Amino acid sequence: MAHIDAGKTTTTERILFYTGASYKIGEVHDGNATTDWMIQERERGITITSAAITCRWAVDGVDHGVTIIDTPGHVDFTVEVERCLRVLDGAVAVFDAVAGVEPQSETVWRQADRYRVPRICFVNKLDRAGADFFRCVEMIRTRLGATPLVVQIPIGAEAEFAGVVDLIGMRALVWSADAKPGEAYDIVAIPEPLRDTATRLRATLIETVAEHDDAFLETYLAGEHPSEADLHAAIRRVTVASGTGDGPTLTPVLCGTAFKNKGVQPLLDAIVRYLPSPVDIDAVEGRTVDGTNVPTLRGPSDDEPFSALAFKIAVQEHLGKLTFVRVYSGRLSAGDQIRNTVQDRRERVTRIYRMHADKREEVAMAVAGDIVAVQGLRHTVTGETLCDPAHPLVLAAMEFPTPVIEVAIEPVTKADQDKLATAIGRLAVEDPSFHVATDRETGQTVISGMGELHLEVLVDRMRREFGVAASVGRPRVAYRETLRTPVARHDHTYRKQNGGKGQYAKVQIALEPLEGEHYEFVNKVTGGRIPREFIPAVDEGCQSAMDQGVLFGHPLTGVRVTLLDGDHHEVDSSETAFAIAGAAAFREAARLASPALLEPVMAVEVTTPEEHMGDVIGDLNSRRGQVRAVTDRSGAKVVSARVPLAEMFGYVGDLRSRTSGRASFVMRFDAYAPVPRNIVDRLLGGVTTG
Ligand code: GDP
Repeated sequence: MAHIDAGKTTTTERILFYTGASYKIGEVHDGNATTDWMIQERERGITITSAAITCRWAVDGVDHGVTIIDTPGHVDFTVEVERCLRVLDGAVAVFDAVAGVEPQSETVWRQADRYRVPRICFVNKLDRAGADFFRCVEMIRTRLGATPLVVQIPIGAEAEFAGVVDLIGMRALVWSADAKPGEAYDIVAIPEPLRDTATRLRATLIETVAEHDDAFLETYLAGEHPSEADLHAAIRRVTVASGTGDGPTLTPVLCGTAFKNKGVQPLLDAIVRYLPSPVDIDAVEGRTVDGTNVPTLRGPSDDEPFSALAFKIAVQEHLGKLTFVRVYSGRLSAGDQIRNTVQDRRERVTRIYRMHADKREEVAMAVAGDIVAVQGLRHTVTGETLCDPAHPLVLAAMEFPTPVIEVAIEPVTKADQDKLATAIGRLAVEDPSFHVATDRETGQTVISGMGELHLEVLVDRMRREFGVAASVGRPRVAYRETLRTPVARHDHTYRKQNGGKGQYAKVQIALEPLEGEHYEFVNKVTGGRIPREFIPAVDEGCQSAMDQGVLFGHPLTGVRVTLLDGDHHEVDSSETAFAIAGAAAFREAARLASPALLEPVMAVEVTTPEEHMGDVIGDLNSRRGQVRAVTDRSGAKVVSARVPLAEMFGYVGDLRSRTSGRASFVMRFDAYAPVPRNIVDRLLGGVTTG
């Protein structure tokens, strides 16, 4: 995990090469990296989807399996990051030794805190001009609030960077100046100029570990010289412990340059030595599904009942749909019947694959701790629990952020319309973070997602992979509507008589505004005045009216509908009649409930040199932004503000030109908030945003 361009993909590539999983090394700038297999990613040089790749690495003569998930660094794809973190046991945070801790690394770090993922840091790009290992370590401490545990220091810097001092073994690992991928290092004595620093830092390392680990503290207090094995074991304990606390206790820090093939083997050693194996992780918690909702634990053992979480769906040529799952407990065999407890559906596993960088290996069984791709599941989508039908439970699902930007798509021909439908169906299975709707007025298909880049990639895939020819509108803000005042009672009677059988339904509803984006339907009808089988139809009618809004056709959210009363006719009433009556009652009542237009407001954080701060703040104000705080961070100013998304289009370029490229920003969705009156008037006047 890292900020974009820190070198995750390059580091992953090297790891796959060194572990023998990848035979031809792929450079990112050649658009040839193994984990970046989607065309868009190759062209853009960014990693969008997370491929799970298994490789093997031996430490101290013991072979270990490691599954790598390369997470995307762009802020639009945080959903991918979240779903990876949810199933990972450990993470390697990669930093650019010149840029240090960048905003996106910070975002991802906090996400990893939330999921309690133990991690180690790799300070990459030490070969670059301006690289500074110790400044980066300081930033890990100050910006991320972590306690870095320096286990290596660099030998030489920039073009002279030659290798690392291993502070645990007190030896130098050096590579030849132009090391080839996979080239072994030489073990030599620590260069004279670094000896004092190394001795001092080793003492610090030992003290720090002793402060965090009781068993090690005893050895330390007894005045014994800890062996290398003692140190490794203690560092492993403290690193793994962060998976159970409120954040990392200690985070081992290593360094190197993936691109120049220096420092990768010791990084692999550290992954195996310090990051938890599946059995080091606490039992996963789920809840029973028979209505009792009892917390239930599943330990990481093959003997427990099977439980797994689907974290990614990929549709691949020849193979069809593959569901990537993390097995938490038990065993899964090809041919097994399993249960999707979220949808309450049975699924059948036809084949199980372990994915390698360049091939897939069919396996008969997956066990606790495995991350594998399963073929044959028809209904399961990302985030859902799969388990032993005899021992059902639901594991905590992942959270998906609200899509706030939308784009209208208009297929060129009828055939394209069909292709578009197929494309959307397939993409929606892979990516639960975008939504699809039909614009009532224009009939256009509207897809909404988390950012401009997210939509761009989706549209690009529709065109390339599914051959959809379509005209695509400009991205625009996904507005919502809501209600501001309650309506205590509103009736609607639907009656129709054409020839023989008529239609009749009467409903009486109350509306109340609710916080956030919730919807609730409460049924208070008594005495069978509306027969029970028609109640869901009223609910559906209300929801379909909500989707269409009452002001400008934007979906309405945050409302509780109470069905108070109604009436039916023995012959003429039907589900359809009640759905129509429900929708009409909702529309009429909502118009009486002071409807308001809502817009997405983003939490924006701009990091800028002090001399540009005034300009940055002035510009945010002119974008209807509210500056919340200005803080210092490693010599720069960090401006935190809330800004309506509608005002943030094109901000990347503006900020760059205003600050000569020295400022950067991150933003994420904060909340939906009412659009001010004058802006609504502007929208009404036909001026579009975006
Ligand atoms: P990601 O966005 O984090 O996956 O980063 P990439 O692996 O795509 O790397 C971004 C750019 O930095 C590419 O052009 C890499 O070739 C380059 N790069 C990666 N690692 C290093 C390194 O250790 N040293 C130097 N000089 N460049 C590197």
